[in-house]
Amino acid sequence: DTADVHEAADVHEAAEANDAARTVGRLRETFATGRTRSLAWRRRQLKSLRALLTEQTPALTEALRRDLGKSPVETLTSEVRLVTNEIDHTLRHLHRWLRPQRVPVPAALLPARARTVREPLGVVLIISPWNYPVQLSLAPLVGALAAGNCAVLKPSELAPATSAELARLLPRYLDQDAVTVVEGGVRQTTQLLEQRFDHLFYTGNGTVGRIVMTAAARHLTPVTLELGGKCPVLICPGDDLATAARRIAWGKFLNAGQSCTAPDHVLAIGDTAGALERHLAEAVRAMYGPDPARSPDYGRIINDRHFDRLTALLGHGRVVTGGGHDRAARYIAPTVLVDVEPDAPVMAEEIFGPLLPILRMPDLDTALTFINAHDKPLALYAFTTDRRTRRRLLAETSSGAVGFGLPNAHLTVPGLPFGGVGESGLGRYHGRHSVETFSNAKAVLDKPLFPDTVRAVYPPFTTAKERL
Ligand code: NAD
Repeated sequence: DTADVHEAADVHEAAEANDAARTVGRLRETFATGRTRSLAWRRRQLKSLRALLTEQTPALTEALRRDLGKSPVETLTSEVRLVTNEIDHTLRHLHRWLRPQRVPVPAALLPARARTVREPLGVVLIISPWNYPVQLSLAPLVGALAAGNCAVLKPSELAPATSAELARLLPRYLDQDAVTVVEGGVRQTTQLLEQRFDHLFYTGNGTVGRIVMTAAARHLTPVTLELGGKCPVLICPGDDLATAARRIAWGKFLNAGQSCTAPDHVLAIGDTAGALERHLAEAVRAMYGPDPARSPDYGRIINDRHFDRLTALLGHGRVVTGGGHDRAARYIAPTVLVDVEPDAPVMAEEIFGPLLPILRMPDLDTALTFINAHDKPLALYAFTTDRRTRRRLLAETSSGAVGFGLPNAHLTVPGLPFGGVGESGLGRYHGRHSVETFSNAKAVLDKPLFPDTVRAVYPPFTTAKERL
């Protein structure tokens, strides 16, 4: 009867909770052995991870095709190579990033030496989303391993094929006692979040971001939250609209619009909207042909829930290009909408799909006011060459990143920190910023015992000592 069913479910859940505790316990034991601290171990893991990515590209490509209809080229450029580049950059510079940093010592303390020493944090948890399920799982893992940590990876259950591949492949390439993949959804993640970790690295939406941060507070665990938001694109009179349209179309319709850095909407200043919509329609046709449903290069929506959410947004504004959809195939055409009101539903939340609304703005001031009235985005894009406008954009708005002339691509520059601000997240990663995120910069002061210059400040406090 139902009581028995409930009891069985409870027992099952308790067993899973034990698994989570055991998993973390096992990694803690490994960390305690100290082997993850050696530069050699870290480099070996990174090279092995690189080998996984190159040797298993076909398996990963197939998983991403099943989960997202991702084209093999997109898989290479936006998933696999992003991580191999990250690994190469890290292998090249890790030794230097880990070197203790000498800092000057105030005269009153001399003779003495001061430096910062980077130490790994311990066992970290990486929770990743479904939209770039390889990149957003493994790029953080590169940082965690480079910094000398053990890691639990929890891939998204919404990209099940990729999650299964990661669970199958990572143990074959990496130190199994230092890296574990835990598959599952809310229940498994909740059980992991009850454990004490030394860092939580979460990529996904702000609602779950808050759950992660609340769980972190219980153990006083530091967090990195890589969240989303509505990334605006500014188009100004005088811009090269044909080039801008091609780059916006590329950045938006990549992965069927399901990219955290994708242009969310366009703010078209002055009379630019009309010409831009024509160029966008042309760009979409040039990239995906007259029927994008038949293009092998165009992706699909992750699931029915997101499909329904997106098609419900289509009712507002005028469709310039696209608009077609097919629920059985989870296909939504690359769509450009104009005459969208600033308070339309499509402007209420991050779109995260292939719908691009264009909003008309009378002037730059109105656009800046509009941007600043909304949450701080993960990125802001503009195509203007006007120096004053660029200066004003940088000085008068706040976002995780700014892209002049090109969306998305800032995240492929390994020297640039990647992350959001405010609602778009907190913390930074990529390259040395990952190593900083996943390590503790320990402050070390080293003062010789002889001569004992400190004697000057010991009590009793005489008037002469007051002047020191
Ligand atoms: P998702 O639904 O796959 O969720 C992400 C992770 O959270 C998954 O591993 C999931 O299992 C876990 N999760 C879900 N509910 C949970 C709960 N109640 N408790 C604990 N864990 C839970 O992905 P998503 O959130 O739909 O991802 C899309 C969002 O992520 C968008 O807002 C996008 O902008 C953002 N994003 C940000 C970045 C970035 O780097 N800043 C990158 C990609 C996506």
